[in-house]
Formats: sequence, C-alpha cells, structure tokens
Amino acid sequence: MSEFHHSLYEDLAGALDEPLSAPPSPLFDHHMHLGDARATQVYHECALGYGVERALGIATLERAREIRHAFGDFFLFCGWPPIRDVNLTAELIDKCVREIEQQRDEGFVALKFKIVPDREGRAPRVWLDDPMLKPLFDRAQELGLAVQAHIAQPDAWWRRFYVDGRAGHKGHYFHQVEYLLDAHPGLTYVGVHMGGHPENLAYLQQLIDTYPHFYVDTSATKWTIREISRQHERAREFFIRNAGRILFGSDLVVQAGVSPTYYTSRFHVQRMMWETPYNGRSMIRDPDSETEPVICGLDLPAKVLKHIYWENARRILDLAT
Ligand SMILES: [Zn+2]
Repeated sequence: MSEFHHSLYEDLAGALDEPLSAPPSPLFDHHMHLGDARATQVYHECALGYGVERALGIATLERAREIRHAFGDFFLFCGWPPIRDVNLTAELIDKCVREIEQQRDEGFVALKFKIVPDREGRAPRVWLDDPMLKPLFDRAQELGLAVQAHIAQPDAWWRRFYVDGRAGHKGHYFHQVEYLLDAHPGLTYVGVHMGGHPENLAYLQQLIDTYPHFYVDTSATKWTIREISRQHERAREFFIRNAGRILFGSDLVVQAGVSPTYYTSRFHVQRMMWETPYNGRSMIRDPDSETEPVICGLDLPAKVLKHIYWENARRILDLAT
C-alpha cells in the first residue's frame, strides 16, 4: 500500500487493504472531475476495484477526446460553461450555447453549473434568475442534456466562513433553484452534494415532491456522511422513499501524483455508509465536524442500492446498456 492520503486517519485507513464484498449492482459515479489520461488511470483502477463501471466526468472537449481514446466508453462527459463570476453578455451566452451544441455532437450528456459564494465569501455575481441565462437552459433542455448543479455550501461554512453576511442567506440560493425548475419544468436537474442541502431533508423532500425531474447525488463524501449519519433514522427513510431520485457520486478530483487512497477511501466510506450497518469512526478527517467524524451506516436494501448505484443514472443519462 502506498502512503495514505493526508485526509485519512492512518489507524483506520488500513481497511483499504481489504476489499469490500461485491456490491449488489455495478456503480455509476455521477460526479467526478477528469484529469489527463495518465492521472485518470489511477482513478480508473481504484474505481474498478470498488465496482464502479462507468462515470460521468467533468471535462472540456479536448480532454474528453483524450479520455475517450484511452478509456473507451467508461466515461461519459459533462461540460461546464464559463458563466461563473463573469459579466454575462449576449455574446458569451451565444458562445456557451454553441459550445454545448458541439459537446452534444461529441457525446456529452450533461452540463454543470455552480452557484456558490466566491473565495472571499461574497455572493455570486451570476444568479439563475438572470434572464440572460434562459437561452442556455432552453437549449440544454432541447438537446436532452441533464444539468448538474452545485448550489451553496454546507451550513457549517455559513457558521464558520460566511459570518459577515456577504454570502447572503443560504435560502436565497434555493429560491434560485426553484426559479430554474419552475421556468424549465422539463429539464433534468441533479443537485450534487445531496442537492446542496443534506442538513435539511424535509426541504429536499419538498423539492422532490414538487419537481418530477429533480434528483440529488451523494457526492461530497465528508459533508454527506456527516449530515446523513447525524440524521440516521430519518435519512434511511429518505433514501428508501426516494430511491428513484438519488444517484451515487464521488466528487473525486483527478490529480497527478495523489495517493490512490484519496480515491479508494471515498468509495470505501460511501459504500460502508449505504450498504452496511457499520457504526463507528470514519477514516476521512472532516474539518467541518465539531466531533470526530463517524459513519452510521444505512444498511439499505439491495433493490434501493441498485437504483442509487446504477438504474437512475442509466435512465436519466440514457446509457445504452
Ligand atoms: Zn465537483
């Protein structure tokens, strides 16, 4: 075993040497960030070792071509239009529309956007109710692209980093989500990181019940594990009730030279969380947690796991399998 990633507790990371038993279905990683082919090779090997058979990777067109050449159809691709922290102009939106059209022609299935406070904790410059954005979302819907949305950040960040109020209220970010879903009722929307609001499962339930094309994924392992473990009983009910609306995702960011245990630990911890009744410390350090990070495993039924791990991604991304 190579050196452990710095995010791990070494006394627990030894578990990564012992493979978990086979999952009840293959896994589809709905949210990861691709690197070059060489660096992505490490992610690919680690993913296969945990039963991940396909993944949706965020990439540029050039990167996607390189990755497709190296990995065949293991990866699907998600574009990321440059509309964050910019002055929106008609020319820029036009360019973004042409870009997603070309990406669609080359097999992309999704586009990502991110509405979060900036590094200094200030509210974003671009909000979803900006009428300039409408043609982009209209075209995405026409092209059958799913939207992958990173909205807001953990409540813990509002308590720790955004105390001066410049980030605005977290609720305002979600008014924007509702605006988008009202304005584009046919758009497939996946809120990554448990929709951006794992702290508030009642609100996520409300979005799921109101919007038939609203989904969440399980990515951002520390945040998701922390909040789902905290609400264990309620979360288990939520996952079973909404098995058709939750996708597995890692949010792993491929990086050259990183310890493979960065990748394996996220798969390991999430699979422990969803598949087992394990109740104990998590091997991943969590700076946002006030106590030692724990996993309270949900021990979900196999038929629920099959939806979360594979079926929902297959359905909404139209995989030919
Ligand atoms: Zn991400």
